[in-house]
Amino acid sequence: MADYYLLFGPPGVGKGTQADRLEKTLDLAHVATGDLFREHLKKNTPLGQLARSYIDRGALVPDDVTIGMVAERMTDPDTQKGMLLDGFPRTVAQADALSKMLADRGQKIQRVLFITAPKEVLIERLGNRMTCSNCGTIYNTQTQLPKSDRVCDVCGGEVIQRTDDTPDTQRKRIEVYLEQTIPLVDYFKQRGLLTTIQGEQSIDRVYENLLHAIEAAKKTG
Ligand code: AMP
Repeated sequence: MADYYLLFGPPGVGKGTQADRLEKTLDLAHVATGDLFREHLKKNTPLGQLARSYIDRGALVPDDVTIGMVAERMTDPDTQKGMLLDGFPRTVAQADALSKMLADRGQKIQRVLFITAPKEVLIERLGNRMTCSNCGTIYNTQTQLPKSDRVCDVCGGEVIQRTDDTPDTQRKRIEVYLEQTIPLVDYFKQRGLLTTIQGEQSIDRVYENLLHAIEAAKKTG
């Protein structure tokens, strides 16, 4: 049976940073809906054009569009070895759809890795966040700058501030999380799937906690 994990938590808590690391350790397909949307934006596909207005406002892209995009990604062969989902699901409808898509292939979510942190920490981190416009590697203006100014260490792409990382959109995204995504905490708790990890710890410590939770999930099946 392949492994399916969700990296779950508010914007700015460090899901992307941790996913970059976990991806190197675990042999799973990293599927981040934010990254998929950004690829569509870059290629200016019809889906990208539709998503742009929502993303630029810090709102969620409608469920049917998001679920359709994930369903399509799940037809790629690399997802058969298991997935690390990041930024999806963000609503109860998306969570229900994911369970159904996995059940259809005889699979289920192994564990939901819920990284959380106080609002002030999230706002500070989002404010300091820089992202490679090419490969999506995440940097931080205070703690983790690229070695060469604005040049990505990984791919040489340009390191920028995301257009939806302005103070207004950041606040909006946290509000949207508190309104539309937080109900999933109870949803996953009721299903016995949730492991909570304190995101204000160091990157290394959070990473250790994540690996520990994944190991534990593997043992219990
Ligand atoms: P992220 O990179 O995860 O912060 O996502 C950036 C933006 O993409 C979000 O603010 C939403 O507009 C959109 N987005 C990403 N994932 C989802 C999702 N699961 N449901 C709806 N919108 C999403």
